[in-house]
Amino acid sequence: MIQVASPAAVRSIMRRHNISCRKSLGQNFLVDLNIIQKILDSAELTLDDLVLEIGPGLGALTAQAAQSAGKVLAVEVDRGLLPVLAETLEGAGNVEVIEGDALKTDFDRLAGEKTGGLFGSGGKKYKLIANLPYYITSPLLMHLLMNRFNFSVAIVMVQREVAERLAAGPGAKQYGALSVAVQYFTESKILFKVPRTVFFPAPEVDSAVVRLSQRALPAVSVRDEKTFFKLVRAAFGRRRKTLLNSLDGSGLGPDKATWLKVLQRCGIDASRRGETLALAEFACLTGAYLDFCA
Ligand code: SAM
Repeated sequence: MIQVASPAAVRSIMRRHNISCRKSLGQNFLVDLNIIQKILDSAELTLDDLVLEIGPGLGALTAQAAQSAGKVLAVEVDRGLLPVLAETLEGAGNVEVIEGDALKTDFDRLAGEKTGGLFGSGGKKYKLIANLPYYITSPLLMHLLMNRFNFSVAIVMVQREVAERLAAGPGAKQYGALSVAVQYFTESKILFKVPRTVFFPAPEVDSAVVRLSQRALPAVSVRDEKTFFKLVRAAFGRRRKTLLNSLDGSGLGPDKATWLKVLQRCGIDASRRGETLALAEFACLTGAYLDFCA
């Protein structure tokens, strides 16, 4: 394996392979071994673990993870990096790089296929690690959560502002559909902040590493999850409107008078804004909506 965690090493690899960092793919590579180790320590890897990595880049996290985990599967969308990874991960027999778009990857199926069904859906839980490409952080997190992939924990590097969104509660400016999904499915914790100087090239924002531990059961009990998330999206869809007007304009069905009854059933003031609703209130809304409108 080749050590890639320094700006000089990244430059030299790029030159040798005649490639450059693709900003459009969020390619800001980690060049600080201490941070890499801190991320991996947070994953508490053992030789029994299967690790799925999103976006291995040049393999800085991958190579280190391979030393502590049983197996590492790394999904990289940039075909141009595959020869680089073949070189930097040479000799790491427990790593497999898969060319693919993480947004379209069925991680359970991949885990199952590569372990003979030991991990993945119906099997053991795997661990996810990623220095996430910033341009798709939210859709990727939604993809991981809404598909209920069978991971125990995800240790992800995200922009600091996104980390705050994940942890934000009702009424906060950053509270949104992503906060609700993360809090519904996981217990999340901002583990530590990361300055932009540990990346090459340095991004324009600072980052944070977040741990998402999947809950055995969602944080609140809802009658129908699809409806729950439809209502969440509707409530956050027009942040400057009242909840009643947001729901009424959402195209979800009932007339304004019926929406009012739905809200009244849950004791929710119709003049509130969607972003003030707690998870339990969204859950109540789901039941009332189904009673009045299904
Ligand atoms: N893990 C490396 C590190 O920490 O140095 C690279 C992290 S870099 C922030 C993000 C990586 O994700 C890049 O290698 C990029 O090509 C890859 N990537 C971007 N979009 C992707 C996608 N849709 N699916 C899989 N990988 C993607």
